[in-house]
Amino acid sequence: MTANANATRVLVLNSGSSSLKYQLLDMADGARLAVGLVERIGEDTSRLAHTPLATGGTKREITERIADHTAALNAVAAELAADGLGLDSPELAAIGHRVVHGGSEFTEPTLVTDEVLAHIERLVPVAPLHNPANITGIRTAQALRPDLPQVAVFDTAFHTTMPEHAARYAIDTATADAHMVRRYGFHGTSHAYVSRETAKLLGKDPSEVNVIVLHLGNGASASAVRGGRCVDTSMGLTPLEGLVMGTRSGDIDPAVIFHLSRNAGMSTDEIDSLLNKKSGLIGLCGDNDMREIRRRIDEGDERAKLAFDVYVHRLKKYIGAYYAVLGKVDAVAFTAGVGENAAPVREAAVAGLEELGLAVDAELNAQRGDAARLISPEYARVAVAVVPTDEELEIATQAYALVSA
Ligand code: AMP
Repeated sequence: MTANANATRVLVLNSGSSSLKYQLLDMADGARLAVGLVERIGEDTSRLAHTPLATGGTKREITERIADHTAALNAVAAELAADGLGLDSPELAAIGHRVVHGGSEFTEPTLVTDEVLAHIERLVPVAPLHNPANITGIRTAQALRPDLPQVAVFDTAFHTTMPEHAARYAIDTATADAHMVRRYGFHGTSHAYVSRETAKLLGKDPSEVNVIVLHLGNGASASAVRGGRCVDTSMGLTPLEGLVMGTRSGDIDPAVIFHLSRNAGMSTDEIDSLLNKKSGLIGLCGDNDMREIRRRIDEGDERAKLAFDVYVHRLKKYIGAYYAVLGKVDAVAFTAGVGENAAPVREAAVAGLEELGLAVDAELNAQRGDAARLISPEYARVAVAVVPTDEELEIATQAYALVSA
């Protein structure tokens, strides 16, 4: 599809409601040419931080009001152009967009057309916070380079292989179908990348291994991956279900919502905000950063200790559940901010699971590093691994594969 064989660069855009993260990668060798972030879009205190890695330049910052996503992308384009990496470059093959919700329909990276955009728009009711920002990002990029392929890479796509019995909620089918209520799962780009990298670490093909992936960032999700295909994941209709997260509750009895509505006089929006923004670790102890929680535990703080224990207990339950779903497990892989850095979380999540073949070697677990690595002792039947995620590289890889096919 690419006219120019020298066009090997992909710009990856991740548009949030008030932020725009980007990376420019060269798929000829996977090199990162530039990375950056625009935050607080629409506020007086907007900030653009741009690092031109290709030229070895240092980070540049602009702190002035950036009114909207169009202005943000224009500012990013100007920064890239200043480094000779402008969006008008013939070396740019595609722009890859992270799109959070692709529903049941988008199972693969997809070339953006008007019809595709309309479909992403129809999914706004199930992703009200994310899809509108993603659509804005795509439209803005299209306006800047109308001739360039824009590729949507969906957070939900990897999970579309879930069998129907894992994707269905046990509620009235007609109601569920009329309102798109089913389990979609998120962080799919990360789960796909990490499950493949875990197979690589074991020296196997992804089709030969069963992996439990634990993506533990500020948002957190687990997935059960059989032979390279997702068979279950912990997030559902929205990213609220499943593990305890930085600010989200994860699993709760749905009746908590009716109880708060009827007896605490809380509105739907208030309960939505409670469960998404004031729950999880921050709700339990006032902090959502695992570093701060560990520091408080070291000082003897009981609330921080309880928050940690609730977090780990849920994590352990999901490891057990996905062990049962898979029947045989070759590896458990920890990834994202907490998974890659918080050795005490990894140790506690696996503690006591020796009968399942799971153990962590204290020394290996304490070591730090950027590379994928095993932290289980040699005797353990199941490998436990730390596998750094790289969602931008995965989006660029998928987008490039599509346009260069
Ligand atoms: P992410 O969403 O993947 O960027 O992860 C962000 C979270 O990772 C933060 O909120 C922290 O809780 C956690 N994190 C980052 N670095 C560390 C670290 N060195 N130790 C423990 N937790 C960390």
